[in-house]
Amino acid sequence: MDDYGKIKECVQKPSKVVVVSHQSPDGDSIGSSLAMVHLLKQFGHDVKPIIPDPAPAFLHWMPGFDNVKVYEQEKENCNQHILSAEIIFCLDFNDLHRAGALAENIRLNSKAILINIDHHRAPKMFATYHYLDHQSSSTAQLVYELFDKMGFRNLINKATAECIYTGIITDTGSFRFSSTSAATHTIASHLIQLGVEGSQIHQRVFDNYSDSRLKLLGYALNKRLLFFKEYSSAIIYLSEEELSKFHFQKGDTEGLVNYPLSINWVKMAILITEDKTKVKLSFRSKGDFPVNELAAKYFSGGGHQNAAGGMSKESVEETLKKLQEIIPLYEEQLNE
Ligand code: 5GP
Ligand code: MN
Repeated sequence: MDDYGKIKECVQKPSKVVVVSHQSPDGDSIGSSLAMVHLLKQFGHDVKPIIPDPAPAFLHWMPGFDNVKVYEQEKENCNQHILSAEIIFCLDFNDLHRAGALAENIRLNSKAILINIDHHRAPKMFATYHYLDHQSSSTAQLVYELFDKMGFRNLINKATAECIYTGIITDTGSFRFSSTSAATHTIASHLIQLGVEGSQIHQRVFDNYSDSRLKLLGYALNKRLLFFKEYSSAIIYLSEEELSKFHFQKGDTEGLVNYPLSINWVKMAILITEDKTKVKLSFRSKGDFPVNELAAKYFSGGGHQNAAGGMSKESVEETLKKLQEIIPLYEEQLNE
């Protein structure tokens, strides 16, 4: 889905622009958003990046991050920007709901042109113009390709390249997941030519654990990992109390759900975590098992075939019980 001609017109006409990420922003949502901000600034736009809730500390180094406003922390200011925006870019989500409290405000109060750039399946087509490809590794890759298609590849500087590279490595598990294509590597190659230092960015994003985060990883794997070998599945579950014992900071459970997948018989891994307001689920799979379908059917969620998320209104224990009833329904597919 591709309205790139219209998007190009918008990019070339200086306007008041807001760039919005999804809730619990990750490397791809922040990376693609900041890359877009850098491009738009070069065309003279007045651009405000807004995220619904805080981003993990391992993304705070990113070029342009200092100007990102957190809706949760600056509601009035952000509402003003949304109200006066002529264009709102929505990056890395396929349903306006994913922008949390921001979504309601946009839906009710904004007259802006909405532009959705995204790589999730089954888009809700909520925007005015779309640039969508569910086969793309990341929204950051799509942003690069869009710049290229619009003829603006030469406007990608080192800062923009670092943002795009971060989006790509965080959404592809550093070029491991099956969404990684030849194009992904070609783009990465160009980004490196522009000055990106791959190993330095990997260190900033992946090697910046606190000691308590590493201890939490040890605890989760040692004490809170359940195996369901007959269904090729594993679940990690952590209560709010346990997380706070390890001085939990946003982002500390990022990547945790991938550990069980390193076991040779595990085809699906699930992480259940609790905070003050909700129980969140993360799903990952290998091969053809579509975790986004399970997440959508039972946990009001969605995502990709091999990586999805959702919510539960019940306690961690009840959610765990519910999963133990659901997983056997997929026995055949899980053991294929
Ligand atoms: P994570 O497990 O890292 O939070 O999310 C994995 C993938 O699922 C991401 O691509 C994310 O966009 C998607 N995702 C996570 N939570 C939700 C959710 O509540 N709803 C939907 N539709 N997608 C989600
Ligand atoms: Mn993404």
